[in-house]
Amino acid sequence: MTIACLPTLPVSSAMQVTGCRACGGQLGTVFCDLGEQPVSNSYVPPERRGEPEPRFPLRALVCSTCRLVQLDTVVDAEAIFSDYAYFSSASESWLAHSKRFCDSMIQRLGLGADSFVVEAASNDGYLLKYFVEAGVPCLGIEPAVNVAEVARAAGVPTEVLFLGKETARGVVRRYRHADLVVANNVLAHVPPVNDFVAGLAELAGSSGVVSIEAPHLLQLVDGVQFDTIYHEHYSYYSLLPMERLLAAHGLRVFDVERLATHGGSLRVFASAAPRPASATLDEVRAEEAARGLDDDAFYEGFDVRVQALLEEFRSWLASARAAGRRIGAYGAAAKGNTFLNAARVTAEDIIAVADRSPKKQGRLLPGSHIPVVTPEALLRMELDDILLLPWNIGEELAQQLRAGGFRGRILVAVPRLREYR
Ligand SMILES: [Zn+2]
Repeated sequence: MTIACLPTLPVSSAMQVTGCRACGGQLGTVFCDLGEQPVSNSYVPPERRGEPEPRFPLRALVCSTCRLVQLDTVVDAEAIFSDYAYFSSASESWLAHSKRFCDSMIQRLGLGADSFVVEAASNDGYLLKYFVEAGVPCLGIEPAVNVAEVARAAGVPTEVLFLGKETARGVVRRYRHADLVVANNVLAHVPPVNDFVAGLAELAGSSGVVSIEAPHLLQLVDGVQFDTIYHEHYSYYSLLPMERLLAAHGLRVFDVERLATHGGSLRVFASAAPRPASATLDEVRAEEAARGLDDDAFYEGFDVRVQALLEEFRSWLASARAAGRRIGAYGAAAKGNTFLNAARVTAEDIIAVADRSPKKQGRLLPGSHIPVVTPEALLRMELDDILLLPWNIGEELAQQLRAGGFRGRILVAVPRLREYR
């Protein structure tokens, strides 16, 4: 699924965060503590199996002021930013999602040949290509040179930049203000969120609309999606801190949509010009207030639920192994690594994990050191059980395994251990 290069340099530095990255407030309540873990995309070549791996605390705290959930240790961003490239054109369902967004924005904002759309972290042009096809002028802003080249080759104008206030001013000078500024699934990956959001506000100017997609913390809590916490995800948004962050840069939220993507996301619309608040916006605000997202108690119980889930999984694993069952896994992405390392799983427990990415095949997963193989090789291993790590596409993967002839048990562990029938 990924087109980015895996980092070649070992991650060597980490920094303790002293205050909230959004508002500067104090980080208080512990939301989730997953212990010390290697960075989730630092796959290990087999010949380096015996070498020590750098491990860093993977712990999310809550800001006592704005309620943004965030990691309190930041690992060297240079070495891990390649994870931006996760949303590549390889995923059919993601492309369909992007096309629907493009169509609806063209209609809603009346975009045409005189309009201008800018996307931050535009990747390989997976989304903007639909605006290009519809004849709407657009520009991608993408920090990874190799990924930007893929976009340009596909006909999507792209500049190689990290978005911030200054770089946004440069874009406005060279082009113009945008009618629509898109930032999908990028906010969590950006350490300097204030400079990034200032950049979005600059691009949109006084009349443009900013559209931001981010996984919804409320869904993370309800679905016990603790495995979406990893070092590359610095922060975890609900509407509450998102509105506060945007307001600090003169952007007012006027609408929000609930999306099924990434286990449940929000798409937030904001602009500098005041616009009437939609009914859904009032609804989500009221829901978050009713659930107590502005109180510590809401966040305090989560870690206990996570530990209970991990305990249940470990005891299942122990009894399955004691019964002599051969267990494999599917999907060597970041969330799988968080899960396996939090559950202290080793290559003794799970024989192999399959992944379609040739860059991961032949390597070992960070921490657990489970070897990554091709899906075909996994099917030849005569396994009794296969654990699906990306539960968000579990149904799709289960069908693939059945179509490939697998007759054993197919399981997921989040939000609770269960079997696909
Ligand atoms: Zn804060």
